[in-house]
Amino acid sequence: MTTRNPPDSSARTVIEGCHIVTMDDDRVEHATGHVVVEGNRIAAVGTGSAPAYPDAHIVNGSGCLLTPGLVNTHHHLYQWVTRGQAVDGTLFEWLTTLYPVWAHIDERSVGVSAQASLTWLARTGCTTSSDHHYVFPRGGGDLLAAEIDAARTVGLRFHPCRGAMDLGESDGGLPPDSVVEDHDAALAATEAAIDRWHDPSPDAMVRIAVAPCSPFSVTPELMREAADLARRRGVLLHTHLAETTDEESYCRERFGRSSLDYAADLGWLGDDVWFAHAIHLDDAGVKRVGESRTGVAHCPSSNARLGAGIARTRELRDVGARVGLGVDGAASNEAASLLEEVRHAVLFARARGGPQALTVRDGLEMATRGGAAVLGRLGEIGSIEVGKLADLVLWRLDTLPHAGIDDPVAALVLGAPPPLELLLVDGRPVVERDRVVTVDEDTVARQAAAVSAALLRSS
Ligand SMILES: [Zn+2]
Repeated sequence: MTTRNPPDSSARTVIEGCHIVTMDDDRVEHATGHVVVEGNRIAAVGTGSAPAYPDAHIVNGSGCLLTPGLVNTHHHLYQWVTRGQAVDGTLFEWLTTLYPVWAHIDERSVGVSAQASLTWLARTGCTTSSDHHYVFPRGGGDLLAAEIDAARTVGLRFHPCRGAMDLGESDGGLPPDSVVEDHDAALAATEAAIDRWHDPSPDAMVRIAVAPCSPFSVTPELMREAADLARRRGVLLHTHLAETTDEESYCRERFGRSSLDYAADLGWLGDDVWFAHAIHLDDAGVKRVGESRTGVAHCPSSNARLGAGIARTRELRDVGARVGLGVDGAASNEAASLLEEVRHAVLFARARGGPQALTVRDGLEMATRGGAAVLGRLGEIGSIEVGKLADLVLWRLDTLPHAGIDDPVAALVLGAPPPLELLLVDGRPVVERDRVVTVDEDTVARQAAAVSAALLRSS
């Protein structure tokens, strides 16, 4: 397994001359400011130049915007190699096209796909990513290990969610029986993943969550026992919920309730739970999610690509829900760029609710401190403050696409994706001058194309 040494605690990097959006509690911004990084933590933030440090590595940030690293709260990394399928289908049509392809994934394809997904996430400003992996074909090998190894190689902070499906077609579920797991085996594998990889320490690079897939692919028993397991072990819970009207019809027919009421009755509400999507909530549902401090991973591009609808982000934020952004799997969001989710979150909220629905700073907040709150890590990441981990993005805004836009946050959120001058995770550079430095992007692209072709041929 590839690992990198922790940064030397005496190593000091100074980034100065840039606009800084701290996203701290007071939302302080510095028009021209500096940040000092020591080891893997932020040691100073302020206006103007930093004090002179004779031994520091100096990064000239003029023409750039410094923000906290973006936090991706929902993804399926293995889907990078199955992009471009069922491009005009509904969620259920898209899933039934892809399940037979996914039945052939293995350690090699998942490792290559995860590396490609994470490399592109880094290039689009992401420093922490979750992943929701729920397809474990028999004989596929150690898929979670493959993606954790990929995250270590690329250098992102990583929250893999051990998913599962135990409700196959023959029992009234949507997935074919060949891709579902035995209930007890899935729970045992999930607990083994917690034992092996979950790191509760404050600067953890890997944390595990418990994540049965969705109401139409998981039995109520597994949902309930997964919640019990997560609470017994002190880890978070994640699932898909209220993504489409088809799902709502399924829940009403099968369980006599909305998807949210069904989940709530199984113990799935609270500040240790986050749902991907949460689109089809009525007013009472929005209130229930907010009052319980449940989290939401809003994935606007995927939702629009599948014609599923758009979450009520303004209302959810207003009632106290923790709302972050997610790319969702690359097979339903071929662009797979977290920065694009910020733009789409703002645009779609306004298309639904008018120009005041979300500000550009609201969008950036959801992608940074909002995502950190969803993953239970707001004490460590999500803002630029002394003592927090040095997960930072320096966006270059002085080239053709952005030069002349006065407000750098508007330039970042509404403009074209800018080049990255620097991306640090845990104080270490992952992107420099718009190239990922931990892996060779061209090699990653070639491997992903080869794996994709082989996988589509075998299905
Ligand atoms: Zn998803």
